[in-house]
Amino acid sequence: MSRTPVIHEEDCIFCGACAEVCPGVFVLNESLGWAMVMHPEGASEEKIQEAIDICPVHCIDWE
Ligand code: SF4
Repeated sequence: MSRTPVIHEEDCIFCGACAEVCPGVFVLNESLGWAMVMHPEGASEEKIQEAIDICPVHCIDWE
């Protein structure tokens, strides 16, 4: 995979949508209060793009 998703955590509202779409990539960090990229290659680029598109505050980007 050539691209890696990154989360701008200061904008994350902890809604959980990204982790629902790609549970193998995004994890909700309960103690920090934002989502994190745990396994950048845990889903296809198409599936990760779906998570990027569904994020309500658009805080996930490709690096
Ligand atoms: S979809 Fe966006 S706002 Fe929701 S938990 Fe994931 S990164 Fe945060």
